[in-house]
Formats: sequence, C-alpha cells, structure tokens
Amino acid sequence: MGVLSGKTALVFGVANKNSLAWGIAQALAAEGAEVGLGYGMEKLERRVRPLAESIGARFVERCDVTNSQEIADVFAKAAQVFSRIDMLVHAIAFATTEDLNDLFLNTSRAGFQATMDISVYSLVALTRAVRPLMSNGGTIVTLSYYGAEKVIPRYNVMGVAKAALEASVRYLATELGPEGIRVNVLSAGPVKTLSAGAFLGFRDMLRYVGEASPLRRNITHEEVGKAALYLLSDLSSGVTGETLHVDCGYNILGVTQPREAGT
Ligand code: NAP
Repeated sequence: MGVLSGKTALVFGVANKNSLAWGIAQALAAEGAEVGLGYGMEKLERRVRPLAESIGARFVERCDVTNSQEIADVFAKAAQVFSRIDMLVHAIAFATTEDLNDLFLNTSRAGFQATMDISVYSLVALTRAVRPLMSNGGTIVTLSYYGAEKVIPRYNVMGVAKAALEASVRYLATELGPEGIRVNVLSAGPVKTLSAGAFLGFRDMLRYVGEASPLRRNITHEEVGKAALYLLSDLSSGVTGETLHVDCGYNILGVTQPREAGT
C-alpha cells in the first residue's frame, strides 16, 4: 500500500514522456493514487493515451486552459468519474519563441497577455474549478522556475509570469487554507522537455547549471516527481504557500565558483 492509496489526482500538462507532469503522474501512481490526465493539444492525444494506459488512468481529457467552457466541461466530467479530487497538478506554461528570444523590452502586448493567461491565470481557473471536488480538503502544486526570482537570460516574459504565478499561490493558499486546501510551488531546475526546447541556448544553460550547482549535476524527472509527492501528500501536511526549490541547490549561490581541474 502506497502513501496515496485511495487518493485521486488530476495532472494537467502532460505533453509527452519528457514532461515534468509525467514524472509527477508516475510518482503519484507508484504510491497508489488514481491519476487522471489533462493535455493541451488534440494532436498530443496519441502521445498521452499510451502513457495514461501505462499507469491505468481512466480519465484522459483535452483541456485548453484559455477556454473557460473547456475547463468547466473537464471538471464536470471529472465529477462524474471521481467522487472527489485530492490532488491537482498544474504544469502548464506558454510563451512565444519571439518573446523568449528577443529583448524583454520588446515583449508584445499580445504575447504578454497570452503568457500570463496560459501560465498564470490558468492556475486560478483550475483551482476554482477543482474546489468543489476538494470539499474534504486537498493539495495543489504548480511548477515554477528560478527566473521568477532572478534574471535569467531570455527567460523574459516567462520570468515575469512565474513571479506572478508564485504570488498567486500565496494568495490562493491564504484563501483556501481554512478549507484544508494547500497550494504550493515546486521551483524546478532546468530539465530537457518540449517547452524547454523553445529557449535558445537551453543546452548551454543545462551544462552550466549542472557544473555550477552544489550537487554538480542537473535534476531528473524522478526528483521532480518525488518532491511533488512530498508537496501533494500528507508528508507536507503543515506546508502551504511555499516555494520549494528542486534544483540541486543552484538557487543558494550568490556567485558561482569556477570549477577546478579534476573536480
Ligand atoms: P512540457 O512537457 O512542454 O509541458 C508544458 C505543458 O503546458 C504542455 O503539456 C502543454 O500542452 C501545456 N500547455 C501549453 N499551453 C496550454 C494551453 N493553452 N492549455 C493547456 N495546456 C497548455 O514542458 P515542461 O518543461 O514539462 O513544463 C511543465 C511546467 O514546468 C511548466 O510550467 C514549466 O514552466 C515548468 N518548468 C519547467 C522547467 C524545465 O526546465 N523544463 C523548469 C522549471 C519549471 P500542449 O503542448 O498540448 O499545449
């Protein structure tokens, strides 16, 4: 019996086997949770279905988070399949490559709005939609990155969105705490995924962070899954509104040390 036996989770943001959301879904399923998946684009269904089958997920639904009706429909279906939801994972973000690869100064109004809508407002919308299904309490986790706190070259509008996402978590945690619903952020180090590929120079950043981090390596999908398991389960029962860095310690550095030969 796992620590999540008898619990249900909805995980949004599985695009393929490299998605951080998939690492989390696997960790939850391994601990006995019944996991349902939400994905964004219709064409991704053929990638998501086999993954869902591998963890016995019977709830697999498309949900474009810019569409309020789609969100309402997905949660109405979820209510029919599950009597309640214990855990919600929000692993959704989007910015155009133009906005990521130009100066932040040149961010377009449309690009700014779309990034904030998909990457930030969607957490508020999904949280509101899941609330009636968390009548006995629950846990919500979203994913962020260090670019919310410090300037990361080319992270641009996504860094601003992640800062707003982390602030949103603190507001949601405060409002939903009295209902026994906890909301936390997992701030992950860089991991190669579909979205990460949109950043020019991502590979160089991955190498640099891997060399400079206190643990001298990058994180894995499994480590994101394990940390999410902590935040989503009773293991973190006294924790809410928190940002947990899972980045091999990179965020604690002020100045990174040049590597010495042989280390
Ligand atoms: P990913 O596999 O590409 O996941 C991003 C997800 O966002 C995809 O499933 C994508 O679905 C979804 N999405 C985008 N627009 C959407 C929309 N309108 N409606 C519904 N879903 C939509 O990449 P990932 O790296 O795992 O990203 C997951 C989360 O982790 C993101 O919040 C990201 O910022 C965060 N994160 C990633 C890293 C990293 O280095 N990879 C580090 C820290 C934090 P579609 O493609 O189907 O639209």
